[in-house]
Amino acid sequence: MQVQPEKKISLLIIYTGGTIGMVHDPVTRSLVPIDFSHISDHVPELLKFGFDLHAVSFDPVQDSSNIDPAVWVKMAEIIEKNYDRYDGFVVLHGTDTMAYSASALSFMLENLAKPVIFTGSQLPIGLLRTDGRENLITAIEIAAARENGRPIVPEVCICFDNELTRGNRTTKYSAEHFDAFNSPNYPPLAVVGLHINYNRNHIRHPEPGAKLKVHKEIDTNVAILKLFPGIGRNLVQAIINTKGLKGLIIETFGAGNAPTYKWFIDDLRSFIAGGGIIFNVTQCHGGSVEMGLYETSREMLSAGVISGRDITSEASVTKFMHLLGRCKSREEVIRCLGESIAGEMT
Ligand code: ASP
Repeated sequence: MQVQPEKKISLLIIYTGGTIGMVHDPVTRSLVPIDFSHISDHVPELLKFGFDLHAVSFDPVQDSSNIDPAVWVKMAEIIEKNYDRYDGFVVLHGTDTMAYSASALSFMLENLAKPVIFTGSQLPIGLLRTDGRENLITAIEIAAARENGRPIVPEVCICFDNELTRGNRTTKYSAEHFDAFNSPNYPPLAVVGLHINYNRNHIRHPEPGAKLKVHKEIDTNVAILKLFPGIGRNLVQAIINTKGLKGLIIETFGAGNAPTYKWFIDDLRSFIAGGGIIFNVTQCHGGSVEMGLYETSREMLSAGVISGRDITSEASVTKFMHLLGRCKSREEVIRCLGESIAGEMT
């Protein structure tokens, strides 16, 4: 009997831009993007994995502040087109909006059964003290990790410093530390130390046999209104009267509280009466909205404002855009906003 050689794990690295892919140009001495099709010239350790690694690079590469929904669609299409060919995907992305892109893709890639691991770095990969090398190597190892013939983490995740976190639970909280991201309301899916310890009970898996469905419709008619003491009616009205606005996220105080001024509740009611939808998300880094707990949220509850529970700001805005684009009716958007569709809320 002929023994079939084991098929090599194949991974696709998608380089969108950001600090990670930068090296110093020896002539100009300024930072320039590297050619990712020769990634192992810059990180030769990658050859030791023995994986079949391929890379595609955006042209031009983008600072993540310029990444918008059209780019999320482009990333989703690259994954869709290459889905059957690769065992997993590593997306290299600037850290500034990585949590938005990872959240968006988690909603767009329904029934995802392969790892899509975002990573980046605080220091360019061409610098001696870079965190990019470790992050890239760990992200690749996680994207390739399999057990009983199946990927261990078939989710859109962020791998950064010593943690793997669910993309739509993660937020960037430091512009300085290597440990730049955290997941305040959901445990890490893996902790990276001497070993990579997977938190198997917290990893999502699609229904067996369910096929990948890529949702590309995105409606950006949403706004975020962050409350602050002393907020004026002129500001609130300017936002809710924005032409075409369909969805309003109110970033409230504590467990979902807002002022009880009559004008404030009247304005929210009139936005809802006109067909608008309001999502209540806390401005606290951790914890959850509990509408009705205090008098200051009871009125919003009775006006029909939907609780975002413990969703992050990044997941709330991308989920809203996704649902407005995908759902057939206002009622469907309201129902899906209030429940977890990709593990983004508890
Ligand atoms: N400005 C960069 C970006 O987000 C920062 C980074 O990559 O960390 O694209």
